[in-house]
Amino acid sequence: MTLASTTFSDFHRQSLQNPDAFWAEQAKLIDWQTPPQQICDYSNPPFAHWFRGGTTNLCHNAVDRHLKDRANQPALIYVSSETGIEKTYTFAELHTEVQRMAAILLELGVQQGDRVLIYMPMIAEAAFAMLACTRIGAIHSVVFGGFASVSLASRIEDATPKLIISADAGSRSGKVVPYKPLLDEAIALSSHKPEAVLMVDRGLTAFASVAGRDHGYAALREKHLQASVPCVWLDATAISYTIYTSGTTGQPKGVQRDTGGYAVALAASMVHIFEGKPGETYFSTSDIGWVVGHSYIIYGPLIAGMASIMYEGLPTREMDGSANAGIWWRLVEKYKVTRMFSAPTAVRVLKKQDPAYLKQYDLSSLQGLYLAGEPLDEPTAKWISEALGVPIIDNYWQTETGWPLLTVANGVEKMPSKFGSPGIPMYGYNVKLLHETTGEELTEPNQKGVVVLEGPTPPGFMQTVWRDDARFVNTYWKSVPGKLVYSTFDWGIKDADGYYFILGRTDDVINVAGHRLGTREIEESISSHPNVAEVAVVGVADALKGQVAMAFVIARDTSALQDEAARLKLEGEIMKLVDGQLGAVARPARVRFVSLLPKTRSGKLLRRAIQAVCEGRDTGDLTTMEDPQALQQIRDLMA
Ligand code: AMP
Repeated sequence: MTLASTTFSDFHRQSLQNPDAFWAEQAKLIDWQTPPQQICDYSNPPFAHWFRGGTTNLCHNAVDRHLKDRANQPALIYVSSETGIEKTYTFAELHTEVQRMAAILLELGVQQGDRVLIYMPMIAEAAFAMLACTRIGAIHSVVFGGFASVSLASRIEDATPKLIISADAGSRSGKVVPYKPLLDEAIALSSHKPEAVLMVDRGLTAFASVAGRDHGYAALREKHLQASVPCVWLDATAISYTIYTSGTTGQPKGVQRDTGGYAVALAASMVHIFEGKPGETYFSTSDIGWVVGHSYIIYGPLIAGMASIMYEGLPTREMDGSANAGIWWRLVEKYKVTRMFSAPTAVRVLKKQDPAYLKQYDLSSLQGLYLAGEPLDEPTAKWISEALGVPIIDNYWQTETGWPLLTVANGVEKMPSKFGSPGIPMYGYNVKLLHETTGEELTEPNQKGVVVLEGPTPPGFMQTVWRDDARFVNTYWKSVPGKLVYSTFDWGIKDADGYYFILGRTDDVINVAGHRLGTREIEESISSHPNVAEVAVVGVADALKGQVAMAFVIARDTSALQDEAARLKLEGEIMKLVDGQLGAVARPARVRFVSLLPKTRSGKLLRRAIQAVCEGRDTGDLTTMEDPQALQQIRDLMA
């Protein structure tokens, strides 16, 4: 498919009308040991199997295949403004470190198909660990380092890892955040116990080791300095990783991804969407604990032969610990970053700082800033667009999709972005808007509906829910009666030009600073406080973080609420509990106390009505509500 004369609309049409030819062409962007025999097997909808019969390896495509042309060019540029460490690994050096890590995994008994859970801060060893897993065909499951013991325990329980790789501590704004006690607690809570734990000691804090189970990374690395561990050629449909994401139940879902489809999807996106060229530098400010970190810190840029910056720290702190909201821009200048990926919240944080920070550096290398994870508001988009003078490209996707679903593909055809819209459906995605109750397709412009996909979903999309095909089908594909469509659980509208606008979630998932959290998980954690009888958590609009969680609690013992000091004490206890169980990322902004919660007569919590009151909006139809007093209490509290 030659792009020179292709319009995006043709490109998109071909991807849907003739997916086999389209994706066979894209598959040439990666190395295969055996070429695929069948491009798309959709014989058992909604399960789409891509590139059957082909064998390949993600680590080979990200690392080994570049040794021929760019062994001595930068691959991973590690920068930590928390520890002051800055180190560049060339492709050759990355290759060496990944093989050492792979040898350690093998020594610790990890075999093809085994799970390795990675609970690590943003350190280079985390990247080595991910690549080492895919090198030997082990399935990695990275858990965000900001999660605490209960969140971690439920993931250990579900992933049943043979090995867990972790570190002594993370660091936030110079403050050491120990990981090992949380890990030990999580392992104690989980009924599944890993055979081994591999600890990277950063020297940030002392930690206790469990004899026979815990192993030090430094000593094992020393033993395997000369390691040579070849890539295992895997079937294209072999599982590369699982990543947990929140939904409407308290139990996170293990989003499962394949090998060949994911590699092809990322390689194609680097060309058509991100326009990254080999030898250039990519900088994604995300974290390896999120899907953006998997796709666009580790695999995407490396598959494209680009150097990738992996950054630990705040956007407002320099390497020496001094305040400097220019550090990201300094890195853009220093490493000649061409493509940068961040989230609207990070830009809003920077917007609050002195604009002079942006003017100090030569940003002429930068050609595009991609923002995703949450709605991009117009003031933020305008501010950063004027400040940088490069295209600001919003892109909408989900952990489930693995790569952007709505955006513009400037690598295919230059198209304007519209403020407030992430863009148009990408190739491979058959996007529809359906009426909420009738399931009818909405074809007129500006009608609000649920954003859904018709199968087959494209390469890179989740294969299923880990060990739970039924949950995959029932959760995602059965929400519209009589139709087998994948629901994004997002509201959207499409304008007359075909640009989509995302209007928020249809379910009880909230989005805090681009992080997706399930209100059920937070409610379950709060409910474990002995003085909590009932709780409702809702997401409320916030100028900086997009949304924050608000908790409304009915206390068992109301004598604990007699005055403001007592209420603050209980609020503090509840926040601390959530910090310890789920992590600070899930901590509600406020915990307010009520004697009633608004419910329907059948006992269902009216979270949407609570949210509307908190945001000062109309609550809509409340005829099903049992006791109107309940909402009045919340209204009074929020006044
Ligand atoms: P996650 O799986 O954590 O990446 O969260 C995915 C959810 O974040 C989507 O279902 C949307 O609700 C929201 N989201 C992601 N990107 C965007 C965007 N560019 N604009 C609006 N909402 C977004």
